[in-house]
Amino acid sequence: MAIAYFYFHAELNHFLPRHHKQVKISHFFEEKASIKDMIESLGVPHPEVDFINVNGKYVNFSYIVADGDAINVYPISARSVIIPSISVLPKPLSIIRFVLDIHLGKLATSLRLLGFDTLYRNDYEDDNLAKISSSQGRIILTRDKGLLMRSLVTHGYYVRNTNPQEQIIEVLQRFDLFKLIAPFKRCLRCNGLLESVDKQSIIEQVPEKVRCLRRQATQVNEFQRCQDCDRIYWKGSHYERLQQFIDGVLNSQKGE
Ligand SMILES: [Zn+2]
Repeated sequence: MAIAYFYFHAELNHFLPRHHKQVKISHFFEEKASIKDMIESLGVPHPEVDFINVNGKYVNFSYIVADGDAINVYPISARSVIIPSISVLPKPLSIIRFVLDIHLGKLATSLRLLGFDTLYRNDYEDDNLAKISSSQGRIILTRDKGLLMRSLVTHGYYVRNTNPQEQIIEVLQRFDLFKLIAPFKRCLRCNGLLESVDKQSIIEQVPEKVRCLRRQATQVNEFQRCQDCDRIYWKGSHYERLQQFIDGVLNSQKGE
């Protein structure tokens, strides 16, 4: 029986059982395994790991753990004190785009509202999510750490908060997205891009049945239409609530 000693730093402790948090973990093993597999067997998904130090040297995920190794595993938040060339993470994506798991519908709407390209469906299977992420270069956001442990997943993040309002702030901070916020650019329902349209051409599409909506719509002059699903958007009372939400998000950055 061989033994390796693991120490997980900072927020990686989130993934460990209580008796493993913030302590040196003595991990016994019989068969040789890569450090990536061993880290995941202890509960930490590989996309959450930024760099790994074994006996004073930085290694990549393919390193085979040896008897007596002392292993330190660090998350992204520790990066400011370290050289990026030793990171085990893949290169950051040139365009930030997301695909979200079924638990994160409200977060998907918030990301779209702020202008971020966000795929979400409440019937996406894990297989599907991993494939979309890999083939389209999209970051998976999930509350399922098993999904992040799939080998196909290179860019992913486990959303810690359960409150949707806190989730959007968490994601904006994690990926440094505040400066990329461009609200009212995407359809909240389907992620399509919005285009400005002439009032006369679409006013008949505002549902007659929903009287108050129609009354609101006849009083405004700026309309946008989703290029994909044709949904019409205008600055009604709904708009003020969304604007308040956006202001709240922007203010959270100032309060950081
Ligand atoms: Zn749409």
